[in-house]
Amino acid sequence: MNHIGEQTNSPCSGCGACAAVCPQNAISLALDDAGFFRAVVQEDRCVDCGLCQSVCPRFSTPNGGKDLRESPLYALQSKNEATVLRCSSGGIAHELAADCIRQGWHVCGVVYNPQNDRAEHRLTSSMKELSGLDGSKYLQSDTSALRQALELAREGANLAVFGTPCQIAGLARAAEKLGLRDRLLLTEIFCHGVPSYLLWEHQCGRMKQKLHTERFDRVQFRYKKNDWHSYCLRADAGERSFFGARETELFWQVFFENVLLNDACFACEMRTTVSLADLRLGDYWGRRYQQHSDGVSAVFALTERGEEALRCLDLRSLEPGTPEEMLQAQNMDGYHDRALHDGAMEVLRQTRDIAAAVKYYRSREGSRQTLKRALLQASAILPDGLRARLRKANSSRKLK
Ligand SMILES: Cc1cc2nc3c(=O)[nH]c(=O)nc-3n(C[C@H](O)[C@H](O)[C@H](O)COP(=O)(O)OP(=O)(O)OC[C@H]3O[C@@H](n4cnc5c(N)ncnc54)[C@H](O)[C@@H]3O)c2cc1C
Ligand code: SF4
Ligand code: SF4
Ligand code: SF4
Repeated sequence: MNHIGEQTNSPCSGCGACAAVCPQNAISLALDDAGFFRAVVQEDRCVDCGLCQSVCPRFSTPNGGKDLRESPLYALQSKNEATVLRCSSGGIAHELAADCIRQGWHVCGVVYNPQNDRAEHRLTSSMKELSGLDGSKYLQSDTSALRQALELAREGANLAVFGTPCQIAGLARAAEKLGLRDRLLLTEIFCHGVPSYLLWEHQCGRMKQKLHTERFDRVQFRYKKNDWHSYCLRADAGERSFFGARETELFWQVFFENVLLNDACFACEMRTTVSLADLRLGDYWGRRYQQHSDGVSAVFALTERGEEALRCLDLRSLEPGTPEEMLQAQNMDGYHDRALHDGAMEVLRQTRDIAAAVKYYRSREGSRQTLKRALLQASAILPDGLRARLRKANSSRKLK
């Protein structure tokens, strides 16, 4: 066997590079018992060519990347206020995608599909469809469309592709192998990991019950009702809307507690400071822009192609700090309690019950963590606007 079905010590991130590159179309992505997309090989189609293994990070760590700490950093916002409010940070992913479409390129980014409540990569060359890509969907996306993206590149098209660092690293390697890297502008986002779809199904059940619906019209993971920092989940169905704060929703709590993330996220080497992308985008967290309530993007230009793409845009430019200062506010290391993660995932695999898995790890956490969560939940009784004002008052005291 020469394909990605062979065992290694590294888990599959579901990046989709193997499926995109396979000449036999023998690899697909499917959800596993714990609610994560993994690559599956259809043995009767495979001709044992080994191409999938050669691009997969489970078999060899990608090398040749650029270091963020040695790359230019920008603090940027779209000049269009509505775009900034619709997007998760400063709307730079949107501006990049729009410029590529104006130049006749294809764009491949992530939409939310309300038919099956999944995030999925989708290709478009239409300005009208671009708003579907706006905003982070804090889920693992189905990357099946990356195969079509490479097919278009083979036919001579230029493409802008957006994704998490594992997805972009896998695609960069696949494109390099096929001699297509020059056709792609690759933009990755800072990534702290992806949660299980079993958690999302649990959250969707709660929201659908509240909205008396079987299907959402729209889901926004970062609705900036009062503040860019507040992580407000919004779902709409007909005339009704659901708003879920970070303090009250199990989805946000589990996402930020960093235990029930994908196995591959636990010791991920792709979301560190080394990257194969042209650009890396994120929230400009930290004290520098803590007073901003609309959203500021941190943008690292890793290659000349990335730098050139930024130069084509008409953006609002703010004063950036040093890369080290910006990176300090990000979650870049591996998560520490591997045994807790493995135990909780085992419970999830066996029971498929998110409440049981959460109970398992919370009953084993330290008293500091329990107190932190209790305080966060207690702050939920304050109105959103007041919480945002308190945070700002607190940060301006610290900055003096
Ligand atoms: C799972 C996840 C974890 C993240 N963790 C961090 C973090 O720890 N720190 C940080 O600073 N930023 C993180 N981000 C990125 C951040 O939320 C913003 O997406 C980023 O700053 C770009 O914002 P924007 O305003 O420029 O564009 P936006 O309009 O927000 O554009 C989002 C772009 O990301 C793509 N995208 C959306 N959802 C997904 C997805 N599920 N998988 C892959 N690509 C997707 C879209 O195609 C679009 O191009 C994370 C995003 C995701 C999806
Ligand atoms: S890590 Fe990526 S390339 Fe490797 S098997 Fe999983 S989906 Fe395929
Ligand atoms: S070995 Fe070749 S044919 Fe088989 S799954 Fe991998 S890429 Fe496809
Ligand atoms: S943490 Fe790493 S493996 Fe997990 S989604 Fe992000 S880039 Fe991929």
